[in-house]
Amino acid sequence: MNSATASSAWREWESVLGHENLVCDHATLGTINTATFETPAKARASLRPRDRQQVQECMRIAQRHRVSLYPVSTGRNWGYGSAVPVRDAVLLDLSRLNRIVDYDEELAAVTVEPGVTQGQLYEFLAQKGSKLWMDATGAGPNTSIIGNTLERGFGHTPLGERCANVCGFEVVLPTGDCIHTGTLRFPGSMTGQLSRWGIGPSLDGLFAQSNLGIVTRMSVWLMPRPDYIGAFFFKCDALGGVVDALRPLRLNGTIRSVVHIANDYKVLSAMQQYPWTETAGATPLHPELMAEIRRHLGIGRWNASGGLYGTRRQVLEARSRIKRSVSKIADRFFWIDDSRMRWMDRAEPLIRRFSASAAYKIELVRPVYGLLKGVPTDAPLASTYWRKRMPVPADRNPDRDGCGLLWCSPLLPSRGRDAEAVADRAAECILKAGFEPIISVSMTTERTLACIIAISYDRSIAGEDDRAWTCYERLTEWLTQSGYPPYRLNVRSMKFATSGAEYTHLIRAIKSAFDPSGILAAGRYTSLE
Ligand SMILES: Cc1cc2nc3c(=O)[nH]c(=O)nc-3n(C[C@H](O)[C@H](O)[C@H](O)COP(=O)(O)OP(=O)(O)OC[C@H]3O[C@@H](n4cnc5c(N)ncnc54)[C@H](O)[C@@H]3O)c2cc1C
Repeated sequence: MNSATASSAWREWESVLGHENLVCDHATLGTINTATFETPAKARASLRPRDRQQVQECMRIAQRHRVSLYPVSTGRNWGYGSAVPVRDAVLLDLSRLNRIVDYDEELAAVTVEPGVTQGQLYEFLAQKGSKLWMDATGAGPNTSIIGNTLERGFGHTPLGERCANVCGFEVVLPTGDCIHTGTLRFPGSMTGQLSRWGIGPSLDGLFAQSNLGIVTRMSVWLMPRPDYIGAFFFKCDALGGVVDALRPLRLNGTIRSVVHIANDYKVLSAMQQYPWTETAGATPLHPELMAEIRRHLGIGRWNASGGLYGTRRQVLEARSRIKRSVSKIADRFFWIDDSRMRWMDRAEPLIRRFSASAAYKIELVRPVYGLLKGVPTDAPLASTYWRKRMPVPADRNPDRDGCGLLWCSPLLPSRGRDAEAVADRAAECILKAGFEPIISVSMTTERTLACIIAISYDRSIAGEDDRAWTCYERLTEWLTQSGYPPYRLNVRSMKFATSGAEYTHLIRAIKSAFDPSGILAAGRYTSLE
């Protein structure tokens, strides 16, 4: 983009949005362009439309002047690039489109704009006195429901596989035209919020992990509050055993929520920062010392949790089945329901006086139990300060505070041997690079696992960005070649999305039909070259 083009585009955007909704000052752009790892591309400016019509205008102006636009909803894609674009572009910040447009208590659905956050929807439902629960991810109350869903993110409840529980997209295309998916395109349709397929080709999938349109509305399904909910927690030694024991229960519907299995490093990073004193400042935290800390704190090599929902009888029956299935491998099967949680809340001050580690565990369990009920929390964000020497601030912001974080996120079949192979290889690779293997395995669907491997470091230490990046690339390469491609990529690693000549050819043809000049979110998952 030359400067004459830029200034003509700028003048036109200004007339649509008003001067105050165009951002180009050095300090704000510095903030926008800071992620949790080094990112070569930059947002050159940021536009802040207020509604869909302004989004359409911004898009048309960008097309006329051939300026790349990169939409974000709230831009808190932490660990995957935050608000930074894949290639240099003008950011289209959709956070002002933050209306909850429609809500149906009877049919358990809500329609939201991109700026609607998890916290906002949670408050909305509470204020309405709703008997419905939403799904929540661990990324905190200020993250976008649409942004997360378009990355195929996942939460913790039975609605945790988010892409499978949304429909009725309103999409601004790269031409500036607007389409509606499913039955929403029929004027007065009664099922726009309710039906995923509509009639004819289904288009929703084209807009997730792609650069074919800007989603300005989406309907999100909710779940009725169950009569009874309980959560199980247990620890064990072997990851493979847990996956193999729980898979049949996930397949036969006994367990409907996402089961989360975290290793010792992951649990420790949720409880505290790096043990600088115990290690005398040396890194990484070697497995032998980790084993000692594990014993001391009473955590397992692997630690599983999940929710059960239904009538009291159904839930207790499901609990018995789980207990039976894991009886040979589980240590300390622990059960929480609302009344137990209330008791723990009351007893916590007393427990804290007698056992710091028991109090720690209550602190750990409380947000997990909340997530299983769709309550957003920013507790997990503390773990991004794992390697920082500063204390975790009340107002957590990993971009601002130089927290280094790269998520490596392979997709696995739900089989113990695959989970073990990936976790072992990741641990070896990450320890060798001087970091800790902070790993979780989530049974996100009946048949697959999302393995989330964190490379956590301190960006303020010279050389750490490069070291972490090399480790990420090596690991992702190995995983992809070994049959475990990623379920999601960061803004710097889009090359891992390319595989299969005929598939690539088709995707390029689609991109070029939608956006021949490649203006929208260039390089994001698909590219013209
Ligand atoms: C401690 C911690 C815990 C986390 N837990 C989870 C978790 O449980 N589950 C999970 O999935 N993630 C998790 N994350 C990762 C991440 O922070 C979340 O996925 C977060 O919701 C993404 O940021 P966002 O909602 O602001 O989306 P955005 O950053 O706004 O969007 C993500 C990307 O989607 C595209 N996009 C966004 N909006 C639109 C639009 N309207 N139209 C077209 N394209 C668009 C853009 O390319 C954008 O870069 C976690 C991160 C941390 C640090």
